Amino acid sequence: MSNYINCPHCGERLKVRTSRDASSIVRELYLQCENVQCAFTCKAHLALVNTIAPSMVQKKGVYIPMSRVAEKRAADKENAVNQIGLPGLDTMSHPRDMPHLNNSG
Ligand SMILES: [Zn+2]
Repeated sequence: MSNYINCPHCGERLKVRTSRDASSIVRELYLQCENVQCAFTCKAHLALVNTIAPSMVQKKGVYIPMSRVAEKRAADKENAVNQIGLPGLDTMSHPRDMPHLNNSG
């Protein structure tokens, strides 16, 4: 996996010439193809689109929606906690495993 974008025209690497903050979650990049024969130049946006793990020092007014993967992980974790917290339900679903509490003998 590469940490850069290739030129859509010649396939060489696009180099960041300069950049500036467009907002607190978007950076505007000015890219230029490293192939001097091509010289393609363009503007790009690097945007924060999904939260994977929420910040421990969340700033008021910053909202980046949770990713579907992160939401599913949080839901799975919650379900696992519920299973541990409610052992009675597990026992009831398997009556054969229950001890005979009212064994008349
Ligand atoms: Zn190029």
